[in-house]
Amino acid sequence: MRGESPVFERVVIIDFMSIEESISVECPKCKHEQDIVVWSSLNAQVSPEAKAQFISGDLNVFVCQECEARVSLAMPLLYHDMELQFCVQFYPPESLEDEATLRLYEPDGSVVAGNVFSSASNPDMMEKMRYVLRPHVVFSMQEALMHVLFRENLALFHAHGTSA
Ligand SMILES: [Zn+2]
Repeated sequence: MRGESPVFERVVIIDFMSIEESISVECPKCKHEQDIVVWSSLNAQVSPEAKAQFISGDLNVFVCQECEARVSLAMPLLYHDMELQFCVQFYPPESLEDEATLRLYEPDGSVVAGNVFSSASNPDMMEKMRYVLRPHVVFSMQEALMHVLFRENLALFHAHGTSA
């Protein structure tokens, strides 16, 4: 995917509220340029429509209006579920060697606290959200999706004794 997919300047901060922005992307195939909305942080409760896109595999995917080329954008995504109290951080595989990314984490895989940005000013809320310091870090969007489904099934299973 490297060399084909548009690459973005990364905002090196972890924020558990939803962050979306509109960017201009040039189709790697036909060079047609169009605007798309991309997400670097997705809060499942705040943005259920983006969650639905994530589940169907359409989030942060460029689909060209001219030639219909379909390209996954190589950009980090934090998925955050406040109800089930977990978060999954996806990075493109090249981030494994990216110092700015590695600097965000302690040797044990937890986030260096100063790198978590919260729009929540309430200290009680911050305390409840301590789990954001321990995101499940993955390097494929498919694995990010699988982990979300796993946590949702776990919650259902323990609440009802079934995952159905
Ligand atoms: Zn195109």
